[in-house]
Amino acid sequence: MDFAQMGKMMELAKKVDLGKVMQLAETVDLGEVMAAVSSMPPDKLKAMLVALKSGGGAASPAELPAPNGDFYSFYSELTDEERAALARVRSFMEETVRPAINAAWSADETPRQLLIDGFRTLGVTRLIFNEDGSRTPRASLLEGFLTVEMARVDVSTATFFGVHAGLALWSIVLGGSEAQKAEWVPKMLSMDVIGAFGLTEKYVGSGAAGGLRTTCRREGDEWVINGEKKWIGNSTFSDFTVIYARDEADQKTKGFIVRKGTPGYSVKKIEGKIALRAVENGEITLENCRVAESDRLQNVTEWRVVADILRATRAGVAWQGVGCQIGAYETALAYTQQRRQFGKPIAGFQLVQEKLVQMLANTTASFALCVRLSHMQDAGQMADEHASLAKVFTAARCRDTVALARETLGGNGILLEHHVARFFSDTEAIYSYEGTNEVNSLVVGRAITGFSAFV
Ligand SMILES: Cc1cc2nc3c(=O)[nH]c(=O)nc-3n(C[C@H](O)[C@H](O)[C@H](O)COP(=O)(O)OP(=O)(O)OC[C@H]3O[C@@H](n4cnc5c(N)ncnc54)[C@H](O)[C@@H]3O)c2cc1C
Repeated sequence: MDFAQMGKMMELAKKVDLGKVMQLAETVDLGEVMAAVSSMPPDKLKAMLVALKSGGGAASPAELPAPNGDFYSFYSELTDEERAALARVRSFMEETVRPAINAAWSADETPRQLLIDGFRTLGVTRLIFNEDGSRTPRASLLEGFLTVEMARVDVSTATFFGVHAGLALWSIVLGGSEAQKAEWVPKMLSMDVIGAFGLTEKYVGSGAAGGLRTTCRREGDEWVINGEKKWIGNSTFSDFTVIYARDEADQKTKGFIVRKGTPGYSVKKIEGKIALRAVENGEITLENCRVAESDRLQNVTEWRVVADILRATRAGVAWQGVGCQIGAYETALAYTQQRRQFGKPIAGFQLVQEKLVQMLANTTASFALCVRLSHMQDAGQMADEHASLAKVFTAARCRDTVALARETLGGNGILLEHHVARFFSDTEAIYSYEGTNEVNSLVVGRAITGFSAFV
């Protein structure tokens, strides 16, 4: 033994409680223990030390598995370039949005300048749309992962983006003429103008297909719109809102680009929500609101076009359910690795592990379904019922996951500062918008049975 080794032995001897060693020697063969430990492979030895520490002292986070909601490596579906773009979005969400979001959520406000500046700099809209409104080759898949990156930190942010670059932009892309697309798409992609989507009404929600009460009437080169809209995301600050109305002449659905400040158009912010508080939803009143024929969406001639828009965006809401679950699961897991009760981290209790596994199973199943859905969408094979099934499933699994995550944090689960309470509340909106659980089930039910059970 050289001097250095002797020094180490002396240091060790100072730390060891010899009384305890003597006690141990009475019940355990210490020679056998030393032989077993010295023949152990280094990784097993390390794992054993971590396990021993977690029973007595605190394990450092670096020694524990990092929380990872992508258990089946779905990100391997993407190219290096796509992953790099998403990594930039993740940094923005973690470093800029996360520190600001609880205050915005509490204040019932969208941190819109922060989001607009960030998404503009990152160029996120151009990952999914080309300048002429056509889609990039793997737009649906990328849009899904983009939604995950947003929703795993904050679902309101994903909704703000989904209303602008989903519902509103799709309305222009599918419903607009070439001239309308040329006018609006580039400004929407650069986020110089922000759009909103006005379909739902105070008295007409699920039944919008058959019975919009908001009416439009042509008078010369103008249309006169009257009615009310409810729940319209982004409308408190949007530069325009697409308003869908029933034509008094032919009873068919028409769409209009109603610009901010148009006389007869007013918006009141809905207060007191318990979900998606960082999305500003408006109640819109249209009183003899006059819109030029040139701002009527030229290709919205019937309900079918609105259904096409909703089908495309419904897939996006299913993906929100994935991101929300990943955020809740990863936050809950990290918490359980550090939170100690009865002398050890709660992650070491069987009942807690069972909850974590259930959350991961929900998340992984939802993720798999959405990846497949997006492949179908990119291939032009996604029907209404495919989007609806994904929405029904992920929203229901999401409800289960966020409830488990909340309960895993005990009392801290209802505090905003621990970042799970928001997911818990926001899931209620995911469950009900873009077609409620029941309505989406009816869409699937009709497809598989051949019988419509809507009315
Ligand atoms: C946070 C948030 C944001 C939103 N953003 C927008 C937006 O930007 N633009 C927009 O246009 N809309 C928006 N919506 C509206 C949303 O799409 C509607 O809330 C949704 O379509 C349900 O309509 P409703 O709330 O009027 O419920 P209702 O249609 O009144 O439904 C109430 C209940 O009855 C059930 N039900 C209805 N019909 C049937 C049936 N045939 N069979 C069985 N059950 C049935 C429903 O499933 C539900 O449980 C938003 C909603 C929320 C909550």
